[in-house]
Amino acid sequence: MSGRRPLISGNWKMNLTHLDAINLVQKLSYSLADATRRVDVSVHPPFTALRSVQTILDVDDVPIALGAQNVHWQAGGAYTGEISPAMLAKLNVRYVIVGHSERRQLFGETDEDVNKKVKAVLAAGMVPILCVGETLGEREEGRTAEKVLGQLRAGLSGLDSAAIAGMVVAYEPIWAIGTGRTATPDDAQAVCAAVRRAIAADAGEAAAASVRIQYGGSVKAGNIAELMSGSDIDGALVGGASLDPEEFTAIVSYR
Ligand code: PEP
Repeated sequence: MSGRRPLISGNWKMNLTHLDAINLVQKLSYSLADATRRVDVSVHPPFTALRSVQTILDVDDVPIALGAQNVHWQAGGAYTGEISPAMLAKLNVRYVIVGHSERRQLFGETDEDVNKKVKAVLAAGMVPILCVGETLGEREEGRTAEKVLGQLRAGLSGLDSAAIAGMVVAYEPIWAIGTGRTATPDDAQAVCAAVRRAIAADAGEAAAASVRIQYGGSVKAGNIAELMSGSDIDGALVGGASLDPEEFTAIVSYR
């Protein structure tokens, strides 16, 4: 046993109005009551639903953490359409997904942007979930480690060991996101172990022992237990399946 508490995060992406989001989180607040004694859970609604979901979680003291899907690194100003770290922190957002492959691929986020976001999230007292992952082409060319560890090192650049120790890294092979294809448990474990070794080399053994590493990519109730058996896999970042309350409950209740 690693001693790291598992973290399973539901990324709702650009789905659900605030009314749909209220409906989903109300269901989860009942169905996850037992499992959240053993596993940390976060839900990441779209920005428009954060306040509604926060109210439900806070009023009933529900042990599900609130998360966001993105943030801007600036504190405020003329950045039309963006959301600052302080705006999220004020809503009791605890986890912020940073550098999701959809942000990198569809919206042109660079490693440098991702690093600025990681720093801004930490400075606002929240926990970044730094996403890294290779394309199918990169995997087939044998460049998985180069890509993943390159993104990791760029994302963590300039951070001290204590900051890294409290973070979450999500290894998400891009070819497994939303495709129904999942990395084999051995492949997922091998990359997560490489991530931890790189953190040990750069930031020390203590940071490596404490950082939580999630796997993401078509996680379902039927594959979560096997994935979680990897000694360096501390949780999951779940997209599509997190929109289905029964499926997400089964995922979180994997043990
Ligand atoms: C994700 O959005 O991070 C993700 C892993 O999606 P899915 O579970 O749908 O593959």
